Amino acid sequence: MSYPTAAPSQGRAATSAQAATQARAAAPALAALPLPERALLLRGLSHALGENAAPLAAIAEDETRLGMERLRSEIRRTQAQLQMFADVIEAGAFLDVVIDPPDPSAQPAPRPDIRRMLVPLGPIAVFSASNFPFAFSVLGGDTASALAAGCPVVVKAHEGHPRLSDLAGELAAEILPAGVLTVVHGREEGRRLVTDPAIRAVGFTGSTSGGRALFDLANSRPDPIPFYGELGSLNPVVVTRAACRARGTDIVREYIASVALGQGQFCTKPGLLFLPADHALHARLRQEITAVPPAPLLGLWISAAYHATLEQLATHPAVRPLHLTHKPDDPRTSTPALLTTSAKSLRTHPELLRECFGPASLIVTYTATEDLLETLQALPAGLTATVHGQEPEDEALAQRLTATMQAGRLIWNGWPTGVAVTAAMHHGGPWPATTSPLHTSVGNRAIGRWMRPVAYQNMPEGLLPAPLRRANPWNVPQQVVGSRPIPDGKI
Ligand code: NAP
Repeated sequence: MSYPTAAPSQGRAATSAQAATQARAAAPALAALPLPERALLLRGLSHALGENAAPLAAIAEDETRLGMERLRSEIRRTQAQLQMFADVIEAGAFLDVVIDPPDPSAQPAPRPDIRRMLVPLGPIAVFSASNFPFAFSVLGGDTASALAAGCPVVVKAHEGHPRLSDLAGELAAEILPAGVLTVVHGREEGRRLVTDPAIRAVGFTGSTSGGRALFDLANSRPDPIPFYGELGSLNPVVVTRAACRARGTDIVREYIASVALGQGQFCTKPGLLFLPADHALHARLRQEITAVPPAPLLGLWISAAYHATLEQLATHPAVRPLHLTHKPDDPRTSTPALLTTSAKSLRTHPELLRECFGPASLIVTYTATEDLLETLQALPAGLTATVHGQEPEDEALAQRLTATMQAGRLIWNGWPTGVAVTAAMHHGGPWPATTSPLHTSVGNRAIGRWMRPVAYQNMPEGLLPAPLRRANPWNVPQQVVGSRPIPDGKI
């Protein structure tokens, strides 16, 4: 592993201990900043990304080879995420203020005045992702949501884009107060960060093995802290018999496009496609996958892992290759691949249930509905699960399928790649999709990971935080018990 050896720039710390100490010092002032001022910081970061899009995209392309068009669009998405969280802050409902007025006549005992709200956890460690150098990196969703919550952030840069991470850190340092966002490098510094006493929670996007190692580390602390790991996922897609008959060709075209998008380097890539055993789509599948040109992957480490996993799956006795070309001469380049097996084989060989991060997918053929349901039951929980069916005849079947598949996002007649950043989005799921099934890393509610509730009992007005005061100086929504609740979806 190699990291830039230049003297630490503004926004970058030499050690995680330094960064965490600076973050701890910055935390109280950030938490106390009135919400409009906090929102302005996020809008400033969004603006800086836009102003510097050209040099940022050029460095990102040099480091990740994801292509300028994709990188430019990812910058815009990252800007939009920052602006969305600025809006969330200004709306104020994310503080979840609930007020129980006192009731001296309550039975069996008088009820005190109780006021509850969410407060920032403190400094957050963010492990950025290799495959989203902007949207899940230094100024990405974890950082944006943590800053919005009022928490300083220390980012452990991904070694796949170290120069880009430093430049993003420098831009942030020009806008944010000292210590509010710092970048550190190196695996050992990352591990030290997770155990640093100043760090109060961790956000992670990456592999199951890396996430599990750091999750265990966070739990091994004398004071265990929350660890929000977004890990891998198989993202099964089920095509019903009726859908296969009615629009099998279109489904195959869209499926291959989803598998190949970003060279298959998405945690939402459809890794399993369930087709009826008598489907007549082999030629079409081969035609579509053959048309996908070879392209570079994020780095040699991803490419090596992709080809090693692909080889293990392709040479498994229960698997037949549908399309498999030779390993390319350029070790960073990927060759798209399609493999096939039966639903019964998948049940008897759980070693086949592993993510192959890159443009490869496994077609699983099923005989009857029970064969399909039994296999879906055996799948690990995922970030997404998709059904392609026909209305109205598939309604009863689709209900059984969606009740069986465990995932954070259920999709009907669509594709899992492309995660909308919205108030209702849930990008998460039970283990092994994430380490915390209660939370999302995308959308408005991602902010909830970085806050904890505090109830204030019988506090005089002057001791209450501003959002809980009777005068409501921050003008945030206050849900007074007995009155109408705050409409959902406002955070
Ligand atoms: P990775 O290898 O897990 O690395 C992610 C971060 O964790 C890096 O900063 C890495 O440090 C660190 N790390 C990894 N193993 C560690 C360990 N044992 N101890 C301490 N730190 C460790 O992830 P990746 O390189 O991005 O690999 C791609 C994988 O991530 C795929 O499997 C994909 O499914 C998954 N992914 C998931 C999502 C999602 O949203 N769920 C998004 C993107 C990717 P170094 O920099 O030193 O390696």
